[in-house]
Amino acid sequence: MNPTRKVISSRSDRLIILVGAILPLIGTLVALVLVWERLATWRDVAILAGMYFLTGIGITIGYHRMLTHHSFRTSPVVRFIFLALGSIAGHTSPVRWAAIHIQHHARADVEGDPHSPLDGLFHAHFGWFYDGMNPQPETYGRWLLKDRMALFFQRTFMLWFAVGFVVPYLLGGWTGVLWGGLVRMFLSHHVTWSVNSICHTFGFRTFETDDVSTNNWWVGLLALGEGWHNNHHAFPQSAFHGLRWWQIDFSAYVIWLLEKVGLVWQVQRVSKEAQDARLLQLATVKSNATTRNDANGQMTGARRRRVRSQSPG
Ligand SMILES: [Zn+2]
Ligand SMILES: [Zn+2]
Repeated sequence: MNPTRKVISSRSDRLIILVGAILPLIGTLVALVLVWERLATWRDVAILAGMYFLTGIGITIGYHRMLTHHSFRTSPVVRFIFLALGSIAGHTSPVRWAAIHIQHHARADVEGDPHSPLDGLFHAHFGWFYDGMNPQPETYGRWLLKDRMALFFQRTFMLWFAVGFVVPYLLGGWTGVLWGGLVRMFLSHHVTWSVNSICHTFGFRTFETDDVSTNNWWVGLLALGEGWHNNHHAFPQSAFHGLRWWQIDFSAYVIWLLEKVGLVWQVQRVSKEAQDARLLQLATVKSNATTRNDANGQMTGARRRRVRSQSPG
């Protein structure tokens, strides 16, 4: 079987988008009514929190920092567990996710970025699915097509997607499915999508990058560290997206813990010198920007993008 064709097959895409976007919204509205009627229980909240965290680190650690950016090395067993958790999150399969994300880094906020808010905030958050989610691993991440474990999860994705509903059912019956399945998926989707939309629009910039990525504390908190997105664009391979003690990054804490007990190794870190070098460049850009009455580094990045997109070639 041609793995490329398998990866870009979109037969189940529409179903996943329907199940993955509309049903969680309906489920969350029902859950809010239950809260209003005081029919939600602490067990429901615990199932939601547990499922949200475990599937969340499947995406942030498994799909993103481990599979896409090789931020650390680990054993096949730990790798399998993280890719399983990421698949259970139900966003999309790991090869598709990684290929889209590699393309985002390669084309961030210029022509070819799958989800830049410079094409509209709604497009960046959600609309890009409908405009055509088209992962291109043969161009962005060809090595993914030789990753047998990632391809296994590619083939069996729907099974893991179902696990994301079966487990909450076993833990809490149908209200477990409502909270640990649908509400969890609604929150997980919108928080992850906020990294694409909010963290390229609102927040602050610490490092100079060729895009308009920002750091945003509340996305950082909810997205288990992924909201320190300007840090991440500056240093994509770093296992730690929060680079200051106050930049809360739950995914980094998990990686740190796993490193301490010997389950992961060769954890990529950014030296203070490397960080300072990027800060100094930003300071230079900022002082130039001030003379042109720019508001901040983000505006500078947006201007650069427009200049780049207008220039021939
Ligand atoms: Zn980005
Ligand atoms: Zn990334």
